[in-house]
Amino acid sequence: MSKIFKFGGASVKSTEEIINLKNIVLTNEIGLSVIVVSAIDKTTNKLEEVYKYFKSGDQKSALQKTRICIDTHYKIIEGLSLENNNQFKKHFNSLTDELLNFIGANKKIDKEQCYSKIVSYGELWSTSIISYYLNAEGINNQWLDARKVIKTTGSFVEGKVNWQASSKQIKNSCSNDIISVTQGFIASNSNNEVTTLGREGSDFSAAIFAWCLDSQEVLIWKDVDGLLNADPKWFKQTEVLSSISFKEAVELSYLGASVIHPNTIKPLQNKNINLRIKSFLNPSLSGTLISEIGDNDGQIPSFIYKPNQILISISTKDYSYVFEEHISEIFGIFSSHGFKVHLMQNSALSFSVCGIINSHELSNLINVLQENYKVRFNEKVDLITVRHYNNTKLPDFLTSKEVILSQKTRNTLRFVLKDD
Ligand code: ASP
Repeated sequence: MSKIFKFGGASVKSTEEIINLKNIVLTNEIGLSVIVVSAIDKTTNKLEEVYKYFKSGDQKSALQKTRICIDTHYKIIEGLSLENNNQFKKHFNSLTDELLNFIGANKKIDKEQCYSKIVSYGELWSTSIISYYLNAEGINNQWLDARKVIKTTGSFVEGKVNWQASSKQIKNSCSNDIISVTQGFIASNSNNEVTTLGREGSDFSAAIFAWCLDSQEVLIWKDVDGLLNADPKWFKQTEVLSSISFKEAVELSYLGASVIHPNTIKPLQNKNINLRIKSFLNPSLSGTLISEIGDNDGQIPSFIYKPNQILISISTKDYSYVFEEHISEIFGIFSSHGFKVHLMQNSALSFSVCGIINSHELSNLINVLQENYKVRFNEKVDLITVRHYNNTKLPDFLTSKEVILSQKTRNTLRFVLKDD
């Protein structure tokens, strides 16, 4: 039996959380092969800021921001009494020096390569702290450098996994005799240059390790009691989905639920590896099980609410049908402007899409579309999806809005709404 744990940024955000992580590991040690950890709290966002300063040539601010980030880590290090552990200090300081030297040297390398290199330190630092802390507490483990074992091709920022190469490296580096503590989110290409798996990619890293090691289970520890049927930020009453199928999890994620990183399910489904989501605050709760079994998929309606979307309706200028060629051209334009489509609907004369785009790109997108099409659009519309709707009513805060588009399938009801 081999299992993989993944702890996100919130579960390692302070000394107390890391002590809690240790207790969780202590009570669940049997069969534990790999612990995948994200960067502490919002470190990746902060390192993205460092990257922005670095890219704009403001080396001074980039170094200053980096030092602030390192100081935050030092507070946790002191809280865990690691500050006098010489081996740890050597390891941690070599990582911080590496980044400070990289920023200081200001080498001219590809922008995306530079981004991945800078943001990778969040996970390198957090895992260094956790690995040494667990060892100091008697939980024998090895710090595993994910850059050496997860191999990717293509983009630096959203690398595509080379499964064969990764599998070989992971099998060689992990053992059942010792827990490996490793980084989520980061990897490397065939030239051993750092790459990343896309923001929030640590869930996916856990799935990669599980796939390569033929594990039985992946456990993602979160600050909620399991997978919820709605985002508590918007909905007063939420329920935990106690068990859903891989298929349902993929559907929910496609519909926009921030369930787990969208790439995570496929490798797990392919090898029938169960995924459990549990609360690191209430570890005795059973959480959510995602597996082959779909008996409960339709039991509880799920709400996926996406505010601040754009609805664009496109028709031909000469009253001809909107055909495949048009749609293919339109999608090419969406893709080159970074428009992410969340819903689409077409009729003979018009094609409507609801999605999001960076606000500064919207006018460019509309201008390009207008070269060949008639275009109408609404900004700041809401998209609400109800999965397994049965007789479910929309929540109160949406009932006063005007429905400007609706779509209904057997399991899913979707509305685009605008303020009345
Ligand atoms: N630290 C990365 C991020 O914040 C990856 C992750 O946490 O999943 O996006």
